[in-house]
Amino acid sequence: MPTRRTFLAAAGGALATRSLAAGRKPNVILIYADDLGYGDLGCYGSKLRTPNLDRMASEGMRFTNFLSANPVCSPSRAALLTGRYPTRVSVPRVLFPQDKTGLPDNEVTIAGMLKPLGYRTMCIGKWHLGHLPQFLPTNRGFDEYYGIPYSNDMDPPVVLHSTPGKVETVEERATLETLTPRYTEQALRFLERSKDAPFFLYMPHTYPHIPLAASPRFRGKSSHGIYGDVIEELDWSVGEVLAAVKKNGLDKDTLVLFSSDNGPWYLGSPGGLRGRKGTTYEGGVREPFLARMPGRIPAGKVCHGLASTMDILPTLAKLCEAPLPANPLDGIDIWPLLSGHRQLIEREALLYFDNVYLQCARWANYKLHIARYNSAVYSPAPAGGRVNLPLPKPELYDLGTDPEESYDIAPERPEIVKRMQERIARLLAGFPEDIRQAHAQTFEKPTTGSTAAVPRLRQP
Ligand code: MG
Repeated sequence: MPTRRTFLAAAGGALATRSLAAGRKPNVILIYADDLGYGDLGCYGSKLRTPNLDRMASEGMRFTNFLSANPVCSPSRAALLTGRYPTRVSVPRVLFPQDKTGLPDNEVTIAGMLKPLGYRTMCIGKWHLGHLPQFLPTNRGFDEYYGIPYSNDMDPPVVLHSTPGKVETVEERATLETLTPRYTEQALRFLERSKDAPFFLYMPHTYPHIPLAASPRFRGKSSHGIYGDVIEELDWSVGEVLAAVKKNGLDKDTLVLFSSDNGPWYLGSPGGLRGRKGTTYEGGVREPFLARMPGRIPAGKVCHGLASTMDILPTLAKLCEAPLPANPLDGIDIWPLLSGHRQLIEREALLYFDNVYLQCARWANYKLHIARYNSAVYSPAPAGGRVNLPLPKPELYDLGTDPEESYDIAPERPEIVKRMQERIARLLAGFPEDIRQAHAQTFEKPTTGSTAAVPRLRQP
């Protein structure tokens, strides 16, 4: 017998499907910043000026518990576009220009899912899922790609333009100062020529990943240095895209999403959360997430429910009535949250990986830390190398009362620790062999001189 909650969720889903079936399929614009902190937007408490993103939040929904699936660039994008943990899709770490790999072609991206339905698809900006032609967006469901295929601190920061079967070099070395306006110009052109068909625009910006650069119009104009300039230019870009949607009369037919891949690096604010890019503390993975679709997503709402970048693909599948990819998904449909019909959706647990290593898990407001590297990320490695080690004892934080992950309550809540360890074991059992092995090997290592005090997880 359905409970009131499940009935409301089902009703919300049916409403979405019915109203969309009457007209064209919804357009989707997914804007993704790079290394933007949880606390870097005005609507998240920042002093940086972000009027367009703040307006987007007031016209749509703002999330406070939205997690990236990884604290660095490539794996977070792999998860975003496939709805699966990066450790499942063979992109567990950052890719570099010397790498010969990328997102495997048996993985279905959001673009690959929507394209067979007649969607026009374009990726503008930082791809970072393989820069060789066979891994570029135009071989992963996109009709067209324009941008630097990896991070702007990687050499050479080449700007590519590709269509299926063709890759052109636009710039051997990008003029970094004008990237954001050029990405924006490309987006506006795409929107103009796609207004008569459903479209999916994926716009992963290069900034605020370092080296930071802003165009003359924004350089030196903020009161927060170059980082502030860059954020203000990104905000301007979002405003241009939203204005183009409105100008083309597509406001109610277009879902616009905004988030980022991981927390702030050397500059930027994690908004009071612990940790930054490259760590599995919340500051490394919790991101702003805004969703706007007038008439379908209630205006001015804040959602505190737990959600993940991996949820976007299954949510779009529901909204756009696309068949789900055959590969098992780790994300869930969060349209009941976006439509305002639910405040929370119960889920097994969300896992936090750093590279191939499982370090934490989240269930409701609880976060369990079980392993951590022996040295800070982006610092000289200690003698013997940087190694992922089990914690002497698991640490449990209640993010509802302790968002800074400062007060370990594991000794007081052993039943929660046990329940979460059981959930971890259940989930890990479904991961590829190399990931399960990495986990097992982590827990074979001593933390100090002796392994006697090291708690053992029940291995899958
Ligand atoms: Mg990043």
